[in-house]
Amino acid sequence: MNKKIYDVVIIGAGPAGLSAGIYAARAKMDILILEKERTGGQIVTTEEIANYPGAVEDETGPSLISRMVNQVKSFGAEIVSEGITSVDFSNNIKVINGEKNVYKAKSVIIATGAKPRLLGVPGEKELTGRGVSYCATCDGDFFTDLEIFAIGGGDTALEEAMFLTKFARKVTVVHRRDKFRAAKSIVEKASKNEKIEFLMSKVVNEIIGEGVVEGIVFKDTVTEELTTYMADEEDMTFGVFVFVGYVPQTEVFKGHVELDASGYIPTDDTMRTNVPGVYAAGDIRPKSLRQVVTAVSDGAIAAVESEKYIEENA
Ligand code: NAP
Repeated sequence: MNKKIYDVVIIGAGPAGLSAGIYAARAKMDILILEKERTGGQIVTTEEIANYPGAVEDETGPSLISRMVNQVKSFGAEIVSEGITSVDFSNNIKVINGEKNVYKAKSVIIATGAKPRLLGVPGEKELTGRGVSYCATCDGDFFTDLEIFAIGGGDTALEEAMFLTKFARKVTVVHRRDKFRAAKSIVEKASKNEKIEFLMSKVVNEIIGEGVVEGIVFKDTVTEELTTYMADEEDMTFGVFVFVGYVPQTEVFKGHVELDASGYIPTDDTMRTNVPGVYAAGDIRPKSLRQVVTAVSDGAIAAVESEKYIEENA
């Protein structure tokens, strides 16, 4: 067992976790950042970052994250790629059980973010990676000159639909209501894109295919009528990109820190959870705007507050 006790262990290396890391490492705290999948979290699947203040021209999620990672490392922070299996926050020294090691810390910042919500319809799981995708940046290229259905009516669905028109010959945005949730400006921009069509008041009922996506069944949310769309004979397949929101990645913290009814971790405005010494930052908090700019702000506050907590409780 690793006997070291860190000042702070940051769980998650998205914008919130990296920002917390920058502030904590710069304050000369002894820190560790744990990341289970890829550094950067959700944002690395985003092709265009236009609204982050100071973003360079043609900024992408990966380019912004890579600069954040270099910055946090330049202050001496360590990033370890390891998932966590359980936690024990019941004592002053918090215990984080990783897949390989056990980590101990005086304080913890939870910045595990959120993952894409699934549609939960027949065929979705079986055909994921075979035509069903949750990441336009990762998989858009596979649908060059083919058709794509982009499911969802929020900012993500419309922005990613526009990005997908770089590859597909046509992108149909499918939304379950007759009004979009996305910002007006984004809807207007998408409406001007000649490759985009809208299919309103429809949900996906089933995705059909043997090996790859071959068809999709829609249900009208008003009339309940079912319609089936099959792939063009020449194409044989098409893409189904699902952008119907996110779910917080807080499963492992259940019972160790308070969660709200939707699984998010409530905090006060200093990012404190209900457990002394445990902070939460970024998309796992209940909030009105989930953006890089709000995530990095949370991370900075959590780091500064955890430093104060350690000083007061030393
Ligand atoms: P979101 O705002 O939660 O929108 C999810 C969309 O999916 C909604 O239109 C919702 O329909 C629909 N939906 C949910 N479950 C569904 C289901 N089972 N079947 C069909 N449709 C379903 O999620 P998001 O678009 O990913 O955005 C997340 C956050 O990031 C938001 O705060 C957003 O503003 C932000 N964001 C901002 C930008 C930007 O500013 N450039 C870009 C991307 C994301 P209803 O509308 O009927 O609920």
